[in-house]
Amino acid sequence: MSGKNATAVLLADAQGIARAAAILERGGLVAVPTETVYGLAARADSPEAVAKIYAAKGRPDFNPLIVHVRDAEQALRYAELSGAAQALASNEWPGPLTLVLPRKPDAALAPAVTAGLPTVALRAPAHPVMRTLLQAVDFPLAAPSANRSGFISPTTAPHVLQSLDGRVDLVLDGGPCKSGLESTILAVRHDGTWEELRPGPLDLGALHQQYSADTGLRLLASGSSAIEAPGQLESHYAPGKPLRLNATLAGDDEFVIGFGEVGGDCTLSASGDLNDAATRLYDCLHQAAASDRPRIAVAPVPEEGIGRAINDRLRRAAA
Ligand code: AMP
Ligand code: MG
Repeated sequence: MSGKNATAVLLADAQGIARAAAILERGGLVAVPTETVYGLAARADSPEAVAKIYAAKGRPDFNPLIVHVRDAEQALRYAELSGAAQALASNEWPGPLTLVLPRKPDAALAPAVTAGLPTVALRAPAHPVMRTLLQAVDFPLAAPSANRSGFISPTTAPHVLQSLDGRVDLVLDGGPCKSGLESTILAVRHDGTWEELRPGPLDLGALHQQYSADTGLRLLASGSSAIEAPGQLESHYAPGKPLRLNATLAGDDEFVIGFGEVGGDCTLSASGDLNDAATRLYDCLHQAAASDRPRIAVAPVPEEGIGRAINDRLRRAAA
């Protein structure tokens, strides 16, 4: 479906999830809450269904999609998991960790999902709605963030409707997303190296400490290998107006997003809590985009823990 009909919104209860499963079964698009952001889901084994994701989002076709699975066992149908990848998948899933792994040659996935790459990005999400949905269907779900390509990611059902109303069949409303930032993406290679392709809710330093001794994994500095994450474009999450970072004083024409001691029209966290800030980031950006002020200023956010991922998104929103 594209453009003609209004999008249905249903509570993400048993009935809503059953309806979503039926729509996905016949190749439709459903926006689903996850613990990170709302995802725009389609069956990953159908070229027609996957093509609808790219069309609804206006997403460039070189930008591959994350495939959502129930668990490590289902992941094995689509990718080769080294010992280290197995350890990460069985300990960290379900959760906000995406693993980029060698794709199995016979994986039943639409080619567009991986944009022609020899690798596939897999994640088992923790949100109960997405988990129930993945149990209800017998295919994995390709699901990028449920927004028009390049714009602010959605952490509520109304955010999804702002950019995709009429372009998707159904939105399952499961309330606001807890973690609020897209998953950490980690490439795990058979040569024993791993590399962070996108910072996210999971702290990589802690993961490395936990796994390196047992698995022999070596952490490469982000961006140090030749393999890049296609689609990690410089400009992303764009609110549609100029955005200034590390602001402590505001101009009259600026909508201010505060943090800690720097107050604002909206605050990421008055108490300076970085996890709360991650949860609130996209909602504040949506408010700033909707405000009648022509510019946005954002208070400094410390570059530590999940602050790294927050600053990554803010830099791209400002680019
Ligand atoms: P999104 O679905 O918008 O959260 O974006 C998913 C991101 O995952 C893409 O933009 C890529 O950067 C990354 N990704 C997905 N598949 C691969 C892959 N096979 N290799 C490297 N990066 C990937
Ligand atoms: Mg996205």
